[in-house]
Amino acid sequence: MASTVSDGDGAADRYRRAQRGLSRLLLRDIGRLWRLFNPAQPAALPDWLEAADEVVSRFGDMSASLAAEFYDAQRAQADVGGGFRSPLADPPPAEQVEASLRWAIHDVWPQGTETEAQQQPLNSRVAVAERQVTGVAQKLVADQGRETVRQAVRRDPQAVAYARAAALGACSFCRLMASRGAVYATEGSAGMDANDLFSGDASVVKFHDNCHCAIIPVFRGQQFELSPHASDWDRLYREYAAPFPGDQLRRFRRAIAEHG
Ligand SMILES: [Zn+2]
Repeated sequence: MASTVSDGDGAADRYRRAQRGLSRLLLRDIGRLWRLFNPAQPAALPDWLEAADEVVSRFGDMSASLAAEFYDAQRAQADVGGGFRSPLADPPPAEQVEASLRWAIHDVWPQGTETEAQQQPLNSRVAVAERQVTGVAQKLVADQGRETVRQAVRRDPQAVAYARAAALGACSFCRLMASRGAVYATEGSAGMDANDLFSGDASVVKFHDNCHCAIIPVFRGQQFELSPHASDWDRLYREYAAPFPGDQLRRFRRAIAEHG
């Protein structure tokens, strides 16, 4: 029986890389679609948005499937028994996808000239929009994988916690979140209306655009162990950032730059 699970073990690493590979394919398709985006033809926007939504939902399904496969394999490895299988997280509502994409391109056709971004030449505004569309699409897709694991942990009576796995080269925010380790449901009551039982939850499940962190499950009988790199981040946090409430992320970022 597997007794230890870590944000840096082989399975977590492979899974994170698989999701990252999926993000790359997504960005390739979004890049192709972007060539059809025509700032001179605002009337064509609804069609473009529909095509973008189709790409996002296709890749979102794949992200959720990868996550469910990973979850089920980790569960089998943990040998906890029971017939639970991870359902796929619901895709985000079409309105949410559209609103996110519309936000990403909002400065291409400025309503006014109030902001600095709106005063830039068209090609820079289009370049910014492309970058934002890419980031928004990546997050919408990756979130479906992360949400699949998170929901499974909440529903599976044999799952007790989840943790964040970040890449070695992740940004300071992600390193800090990953160094928090596993977030556990209350002892003894996991599985029973577990929705509010995960304390410290928010710190592990906030993600930014282009974030490649993954969520990994911890099952009953397993011990979670921070990876060596996340332990280093935790040490830096405790030493250089923890004593400075309100300024911790900045201090942590500096500690990573100087000692990481
Ligand atoms: Zn990050």
